[in-house]
Amino acid sequence: MFSKIKEECGIFGIYSMENNEDLAPITTVGLACLQHRGEESCGIAVNDGGLIYCEKDLGLVADVFRPERLAKLPTGKIAIGHVRYSTTGAPRVENAQPIVKRYAKGNICVVHNGNLTNTEELRNELEEHGAIFNSTSDTEVICSIIARERRKVGSIEEAVKNATKYLKGAYSLLVMSSRKLVAVRDPHGFRPLCMGKLGNDYVFASESCALDVIGATFERDIKPGEIVTLYQNEMKTENFRTNEKDGLCIFEYVYFSRPDSNVDGMNVHKFRELAGKYLAEQAPVDADFVAGVPDSGLDAALGYSKYSKIPYDIAFVKNKYIGRTFIQSTQNKRKNQVALKLNPIPSTVKDKRIILIDDSIVRGTTITRIIKTLRRAGAKEIHLRIASPAFLGVCYFGTDVTNKDGLIATKKTVEEIREEIGADSLEYLSLENLRKIAEGSNMKGFCEGCFTSKYPIEVPDELQKDKFEKIF
Ligand code: AMP
Repeated sequence: MFSKIKEECGIFGIYSMENNEDLAPITTVGLACLQHRGEESCGIAVNDGGLIYCEKDLGLVADVFRPERLAKLPTGKIAIGHVRYSTTGAPRVENAQPIVKRYAKGNICVVHNGNLTNTEELRNELEEHGAIFNSTSDTEVICSIIARERRKVGSIEEAVKNATKYLKGAYSLLVMSSRKLVAVRDPHGFRPLCMGKLGNDYVFASESCALDVIGATFERDIKPGEIVTLYQNEMKTENFRTNEKDGLCIFEYVYFSRPDSNVDGMNVHKFRELAGKYLAEQAPVDADFVAGVPDSGLDAALGYSKYSKIPYDIAFVKNKYIGRTFIQSTQNKRKNQVALKLNPIPSTVKDKRIILIDDSIVRGTTITRIIKTLRRAGAKEIHLRIASPAFLGVCYFGTDVTNKDGLIATKKTVEEIREEIGADSLEYLSLENLRKIAEGSNMKGFCEGCFTSKYPIEVPDELQKDKFEKIF
C-alpha cells in the first residue's frame, strides 16, 4: 500500500538555442531561488543529444549540487529541475524528482508542482494494465499516462494534451522528451508557472524570482490550460482549456511565494503589504510599534505600520540556518524549532505594547511559542493581527495541510484561539478584504479552500475520507 505524499514544490526548466550549454549550474541557481517551495529533496535532469542524465537526492540544493555532483551532469540543450517538500511518509529519494523513464518512444522526464485528486484511481487503472511504479508520487502516474498517450499520437505535446483529459487537480508541469521541452499548467492554474528569456534561451519557473536571479527577463505567466512547446529552437503554444474557471491558490500570495515574485500579474510583497493596510483599517489598536513575524509577516507589518502611522520595528532576530518549521514532522520537534529559529530583541520589546503581524495561523503551534518568547522578553501587550482569514479547510492541491483536526480554527472561536495562544487581542483579515486585494491579480478566480472549504473542483469523497482517517 502506498503512503500518502503531499507536497508543495518548485520547478525550473531551460531550453537553450545551443546544443552544448552548461545548463546544470543555471538550473541550480534557479532551484536555489525556489528552495522555499521545497526543502526535502531536489534534482536536475539534463538532455544531451536526446539522452537524459539525472542527479537527485534528499537535501537542500546547495548541499546536493556541490561541484562534484554538478560535474556528473553533461552540457546539453534542455534541463529541468525540481525542489520538493513533503511531510507525510518517510522522505525517500525515490519520490524525488525529476522522474525519468525510458519507453517505446524514447525518453521522458517530468517535474511537477501540485497534487492530483484522482491519483489512486489512475494508478489502479495503470497497474491493471501492467504498469509498475517505483515511487508513491503522483508525478510518476502523470509520466506513465503521458507515455501511454504518446503511443496513440504523433508528438509529445499531443500526448500531454491527451493526458490532461485524465488528470484531475493541480499540476504545473515541465516535460522533457528526447528533443522537446513542454510546459503545461492545469486548466484552473492552481499553481503558478511563468516563462522568461535568458538571451534567446527560454526559461520556465514556478516563480519569477528565479528568473530575476539568473538574469533572465520575465516574459509572461503560462495561462491556465496552456501547453507551451519548444522544439528545434521554436516556441509554439496551445490552449486545451474548455470551460474551467481560474483557481489560483490564494495561499501562494499569503505565504508560499516569495515577496519578490510576481504571480499572475501581482507582486507578492504588494499583496501582503495591502493585507497589512486592510488589517489596520479593519482592526485598529493603539500600541508602541508594529512588528512582523519573520519572514512571512514582515510585508504585512510594514503595510499596517504605514497605514496606521504606528512605527515599524524589528522584534526578532531570525536564525538564517534553520529551515521552515513545518519541515519537522512531529509536533515536539516543531516546538523546539520555533525557539531556535526566532529570538526576540529584549531592548525593543521590553515593556512595549506590540502589534504583531503574521501571515496565517494554521495549527497555532508557532504563534503560541512566539508569543511566549515575547512575554519572556518583557512585552507588555501583544495584539496579534493575521494577514489572512481563519484557516478552516484542508488542501488537496499540493500542500501539506491534509488534516482538518490539526487546524486550530476548526475547533475554536477567535476568542478561544486568542486565549489559547496568549495574545491580548486577535483579529484575522476578512475574506472580503482578502478578495479585494486579489482583484489586483490577472486571475479572475482563486482556490480559497483553506479559508472556505470550498474548492474550484469537486474533491472525490474517498479522498476526503482518506485524509480524515489516515493522515497523522
Ligand atoms: P502553525 O500555526 O504552527 O501551524 O504555523 C503557521 C505558520 O507556518 C504560518 O504563520 C506560516 O508562516 C507557516 N505556514 C503556513 N502554512 C504552511 C504550509 N502549508 N507549509 C509550511 N508552512 C506553513
